[in-house]
Amino acid sequence: KAKEAGRARMTLYDPSMDADREQRNALELDLRMAIESGDLTLAYQPLIDAASYAPTGVEALVRWNRPGHGPISPEVFIPIAETSGLIESLGLFVLRKACETAKQWPELNVSVNVSPGQFRNPAFADYVRYVLKQTEVEAGRITLEITEGYMIQNPQRTRQSIERLKALGVKVALDDFGSGFSSIGYLRQFGFDRIKIDRSLVMGVNEDKRQREMLQATVALARSLDIPVTAEGIETEEQAIAMRLFGCDCLQGYLFGKPMTADLITEMLHARHAAEPEGRRRLGAA
Ligand code: C2E
Ligand code: MG
Ligand code: MG
Ligand code: MG
Repeated sequence: KAKEAGRARMTLYDPSMDADREQRNALELDLRMAIESGDLTLAYQPLIDAASYAPTGVEALVRWNRPGHGPISPEVFIPIAETSGLIESLGLFVLRKACETAKQWPELNVSVNVSPGQFRNPAFADYVRYVLKQTEVEAGRITLEITEGYMIQNPQRTRQSIERLKALGVKVALDDFGSGFSSIGYLRQFGFDRIKIDRSLVMGVNEDKRQREMLQATVALARSLDIPVTAEGIETEEQAIAMRLFGCDCLQGYLFGKPMTADLITEMLHARHAAEPEGRRRLGAA
């Protein structure tokens, strides 16, 4: 408390603060306008079956090209949307757009990131049901990804929300596993359909023996609970081979394809069908 008060007092005299706040306000305003006028877009990154290297799905990732500033990372504007009350409308836009687009690719599963602010809303499952109905997409083809941070803070509510979502037929995945403080003990009781191993862990797989062993143990644990595991952030063939060996059934990363436009995903699917329907061809990155 004393420390907090001290920090608050100090910031009062920080000359850079006005400028910071002004910049943040401007960013928030621009984001609000972008959401209202539909200026956000979605990119889609392929998810690859580890055995066949065939695409099994895509992850929708929101993109914002801020006028006069260029592209802003979702790691920057999602937290701002969270604290400024914009996350509901942003999340709804993303979900609706992803579900609409999913209809173009009947053979793919479509993953959508859900932030804590959306998930916390008791009406979240209701609006998911509404969007599914509106867009007429099959619930089983949609996976909602939630991050572990929220789950740890609100285990009881998380469990309830997951139950309601699963009752709708959508899948629920735990994103960024291993990046924070996930308690292994939680995993079984939450009923996640899938776990995604964070890129920060995958990165070190061929560098450090200890990291490799930890990673291997993490995947083995998920698998012992019968939860399928995706490895995210695969950039090299070595990483792909290792993660596959450890038991990941799904791979995602620049090696297989960067986030790309919906049109490029469609092209990629056509090219695969035309060339070799059951080929093991790797996807070209866009
Ligand atoms: P995430 O859900 O873990 O998504 C994976 C991030 O890793 C994406 O970054 C993706 O572009 C990046 N990535 C994938 N493969 C590789 C790789 O091989 N190498 C490297 N260096 N990076 C890779 P992006 O699109 O910048 O998104 C960052 C985070 O922002 C996401 O992490 C997610 O937490 C959040 N986010 C993105 N879109 C949405 C959204 O529509 N809604 C919400 N709530 N959050 C979103
Ligand atoms: Mg994700
Ligand atoms: Mg992730
Ligand atoms: Mg991640």
